[in-house]
Formats: sequence, structure tokens, C-alpha cells
Amino acid sequence: MKQVIRDVRLRGREGGFDVAIDGELISAVEPGYAGPAEREYAGEGRLLVPGLVNAHMHLDKCMLGAVMRPNESQTLQEAIYITWDHKRSYTVEEIADRAGPVVEAAIVNGTTAMRGFADVDTIGGLTPVQGLLELKRRFEGRITMEVVAFPQEGIMRDPGCDRLMEEAMAEGADVVGGLPWYERLDRDAHAHVDFCFELAKRTGKDIHMLVDDTDNPNSRSLEYLAVRTLEEGYGGRVTASHCGALAAYDDTHAEKVIGLVKEGGVSISSNTQISLVMAGRNDRRKVRRGHTRVKELLAAGVNVLSSQDDVNDPYYPFGRPDQIEVGQYMAHVAHLTYPSELETVFDMIGVNAARAMRLEGYGIKPGARADLVLIDAPTVHEALRLIPPRRLVFYGGKLLAESRLEVTTHQ
Ligand SMILES: [Zn+2]
Repeated sequence: MKQVIRDVRLRGREGGFDVAIDGELISAVEPGYAGPAEREYAGEGRLLVPGLVNAHMHLDKCMLGAVMRPNESQTLQEAIYITWDHKRSYTVEEIADRAGPVVEAAIVNGTTAMRGFADVDTIGGLTPVQGLLELKRRFEGRITMEVVAFPQEGIMRDPGCDRLMEEAMAEGADVVGGLPWYERLDRDAHAHVDFCFELAKRTGKDIHMLVDDTDNPNSRSLEYLAVRTLEEGYGGRVTASHCGALAAYDDTHAEKVIGLVKEGGVSISSNTQISLVMAGRNDRRKVRRGHTRVKELLAAGVNVLSSQDDVNDPYYPFGRPDQIEVGQYMAHVAHLTYPSELETVFDMIGVNAARAMRLEGYGIKPGARADLVLIDAPTVHEALRLIPPRRLVFYGGKLLAESRLEVTTHQ
């Protein structure tokens, strides 16, 4: 079907544009498009952006907050323990049923691509991976979903997990996950990273690890991951989330590690809303924000993205999930408020995340995929300030959602 969205604003370009869609792809981006269109939409000067991208989301755990006991200490360790109770009783259907409305909400909020993390360990076995694969089937044609096989209990400290990781990839997981910093010793963290590279290379998959998610300055798995990425020639195919310890290193060591991350071609996902809640819990005074060195990573030319991570689970009680909200947190927490920095923040929830996931045909140009979001605001600044409704959400040229804010005032 041929469609056209009239009179939209585009990032980094002056004036109004019409964006024409032919089937799944964008066919033209120009003012006053005169070609054929079976269906037209009025943009009325609103901002049109490519689909928002959430590259880190624990879909197997989301909404456990509705059924779990509260996390009394609000520490990461207690969150892991609470989840054990649920993992023992997970079923494929229950996971897909629980995560479905969250994915639906993400689509309404303009997310067109998502990486879902599924725990792989000797407690829940492969049920979370199978649950997310079922979820992926249910949402086929409505969102690009990748399933990450994620060893939440470690690999070396959870004997048997290595075999489960291999089975998870064989069953259809798309990305090799990792959690090296959670191992007991540096030696084991290194073995963990080595195992993930061997598995990723053998299966031809990318890697996305949760790295140094702690305020402990002695947690040093990021540098090993960066060096291994360099040695394996895996640049552009590895993402590290969190990296809170990088902020706790002394400046000299941090500079060295950031250099290795850049040299290795590792993307960094900083999910600041989660860091605000989980990090700094042991700080008695001068409580830190806990996010990684976002500004220094950006200045070094590292690909930095930001993700939702959690929605109402033992780690984080909020999350709508909305990538623009994630961006607004990033702007606050990382002190990114200058006009050009707001544009950078928007890149983190879009094009930078798309680069980390190696999504093809991302952007607003002829030939790109028509994964498009019309935001009820004229600029990135206003989008981040207001977090307004997404008027139109297209996935592969298919209109999936329409939202608007209805307000009635009375005298
Ligand atoms: Zn996470």
C-alpha cells in the first residue's frame, strides 16, 4: 500500500516534509510530495522519527512486581534472591502472557525494536528463553524482537549453566548474554567472557553482557571484555550494559578503560533510571547517581545507548515502558541538557541503540524501513520535556497504534 505522512518535521533539517511509504519501505522524503497515495496522514508540523529502540529489557521478569514480595533492602542481591522463587514456577505461557501487555505498551510508545533478556540458569532452566521465543512469535510482524540468552546466576558459579547456554542458542536465542562481574573471582569472570565469545563465534551471534553493575571499583570485567572484543575482531557486535564500576575507578584507570572500549568497538548501554534506584545503596553520604561515565564515553566517540531494562520487577518498581522517558532520565542524571546534548540523548534511544543491535535500514530516507513514530511535539526538546503521546506508530509501513491526549478544562 502507498501511504504518505504530510507536513512533518525531521531532526536536523529545516522546514516541513512529506514522507511517502510504499509497502514496508520509505519511498520518498520531500516537501510537497505529489506521487500516488491510498492513505494520507496529517503531520501538522509534528516531529517524525524512526522507531525507538530498547536494546535491554528483562521481559521474563517484567511485572513480577505485581506478585512478588517487596525488595526490602532494594539491593541487587536481594532482587536476584526474590526472583528465584518465581523462576522455579515459571511456565512458557505465564511468561509470554505476563510480558505481552508490556510489549504492547512499548509499541504504543513507539518502540519498534527490542532486545528481550531471558535468564538461563539451573533454577529456571530454559523456560524463560522458551517464554520469550513464544512472545517473539506472538509479536511477529509488530516489532523486531531479539532474545538474549542471559546467565543471570553466572556461568562458573552455576555449574550446568554452560550446557544450558548452548541449548538456549540451539533453541533459537538471537544473542549471547553475559554477566561476568557476578562471578566470584576475576579468573572466573575472564573464563565467563571467554566462554561467551567461543559460543558467539560458533553460533555466529552478537554479544550483550551486563558488566560491572556495581559501585565496587575493583570490578574490572569491562576492560577484559573490550580487549577480547579487539582480539576476536568483534567490534560493533558487542554491547556492555551498566558499567557502573567505571565511574568508581580513579580517573587515570577510567581513561585507559574508556580507550580500550573505544578501540574494541564496544557499545555501552547506560540505563540511568535503574542506576538511580539500585546504585549508591551503601553510600552513607554524598550518595552517587551510580551511572557510568556517559559524558566521557561520548567524548571518546563510544557508541552510547540507553534502555528501559526493567518494568515493575524486583530491581525497579516503575517503567511504562517508554524510551522517551528513559531519555529524559538520561538527560537529568548525566547532565545532558544543552540543546545539542538533548539531540545526543535522543540518539541514545534511537540510532545509537539501532547501531548496537545492527538493525538494517534504520532512518528516515528513501529505501529505509518504514518504522516510524509521529510524536505530538515539534522538536526533540519538546518531546523530552513533555513526553507526549505518539500520534502514529508504524512498523514496516503498517500502522500499529494511534494515541492522543484528550483534555477538557472547565471554568
Ligand atoms: Zn538488566
